[in-house]
Amino acid sequence: MDYNKVKEGISLLLEGLGVDCNDPHFKESPERVARAWTDELCIGLKEETFHLTTFPMTSGDQPNMIILQHIPVKSICAHHLLPFIGEATVAYIPQKSLCGLSKLSRVVDFFARRPQVQEHLTSDIAQYFQHKLNPQGVGVIIKASHLCMEMRGVKHSGLMTTSALLGCFLKNSTVRAEFMALARLQ
Ligand SMILES: [Zn+2]
Repeated sequence: MDYNKVKEGISLLLEGLGVDCNDPHFKESPERVARAWTDELCIGLKEETFHLTTFPMTSGDQPNMIILQHIPVKSICAHHLLPFIGEATVAYIPQKSLCGLSKLSRVVDFFARRPQVQEHLTSDIAQYFQHKLNPQGVGVIIKASHLCMEMRGVKHSGLMTTSALLGCFLKNSTVRAEFMALARLQ
């Protein structure tokens, strides 16, 4: 990320929209907006070394489905630079390793904090767990509303649902049905 370029771009955007950055109220706006984009909204781009802690399964651990719902998703649509906001459901069936439940939420946040499209976000999360945890399978569902649809274009609200299924979640219809049934429960 290049903070100076972001700040320069925000200055031009504000100038183009007729906001007077010499006005004391808006003097700090380019810096404030640039900091929000680089340090908060897109902070995932800075964390290249995010590490997933895993634990080996012991003889008492069963390879059952582990599912976390209502994970907040706040991301930026790269088509329109407007937010999309919703919830994710992440599940996996372990093979040899487990990860802490909060890490499911943490990984969603890591990938959400960058400009992208919801389809890629969903598959990035699934691929990450498949790669790092090597489970029997992974399922990710994201439901989100998009300000680029609500504030522009058709100007209607709607919930976009995307899913990414890997391993046994894709190949085994019983696993897929269990995941979909659990994901529907509140
Ligand atoms: Zn959009």
